[in-house]
Amino acid sequence: MTMETNPCDKPVNKGSSIPSRVSRKTKPEDTIVNINGMKVGGSDIVVIAGPCAVESREQLFETARSVRTSGANILRGGAFKPRSSPYNFQGLGEDGLKLLSEIREETGLPIVTEVMDTRQVELVASYADMIQIGSRNMQNYPLLKEVGLCRKPILLKRGMMATIEEFLLAAEYILSQGNDQIVLCERGIRTFETSTRNTLDLSAVPMLKSRTHLPVIVDPSHGTGIRWMVPSMARAAIAVGADGLIMEVHYNPEEALCDGYQSLSLREFDQLMISLNKIAVAVGRNISKL
Ligand code: PEP
Ligand code: MN
Repeated sequence: MTMETNPCDKPVNKGSSIPSRVSRKTKPEDTIVNINGMKVGGSDIVVIAGPCAVESREQLFETARSVRTSGANILRGGAFKPRSSPYNFQGLGEDGLKLLSEIREETGLPIVTEVMDTRQVELVASYADMIQIGSRNMQNYPLLKEVGLCRKPILLKRGMMATIEEFLLAAEYILSQGNDQIVLCERGIRTFETSTRNTLDLSAVPMLKSRTHLPVIVDPSHGTGIRWMVPSMARAAIAVGADGLIMEVHYNPEEALCDGYQSLSLREFDQLMISLNKIAVAVGRNISKL
């Protein structure tokens, strides 16, 4: 990645002489994040796939085995779910984490799962290979500091109303505690548009890549909220320079307890992986192999 002069490249630390760790000016070379051997931020593109939430052994294991066969590199699955309604399925908690680590043993897929509470960082870190900070917690500063202290890679999702500047400063919180293993994720922002769940800001990808050395991935599932749109936006994300994708896949999307309407079926994911490889090659990259 070359360092071009960018008129929008405002200093992250306005009025401060302390160099910000997140800036490419401080560290021109790309950061490579190592998730239990799987590297994000290098020449290869990483595909993270799996259900929105871990629901049961059968659901997780069947989905994981299938996405593994289709070429996914990392398994996703929420055990602690941030749901809009307190009466919706909240996740299986530690039982979900146990299932994730069991299927990691079988498939070899590293696992990423969300933490929502400072009191659960240690617990989640004891099972996960990568810890997700969800959109709703991007500005939860105590949580950012806590995961900054743990020695696990962090998947930091953009807040749904966060500017690029605020997103980078959230990453700075984690970096300031000594953890530089951060992957940024564009997952759509709230705009006036209601035809999609969020407005997937793909222009954030080249902007972030110019402003920071951290890898950037895209979540077209939450970014659109519409299953049939996911493949197009996944391909577009690779075309604009994303270092990877995170997508929701379910063995029976119609019956999913969470986000089924935006989850790909096993077959749809398998088909998508074929076309993603072609786009990756067209932009001089490859999809990683496990
Ligand atoms: C998720 O990835 O499970 C999730 C809840 O996403 P977001 O935080 O982007 O809404
Ligand atoms: Mn979801």
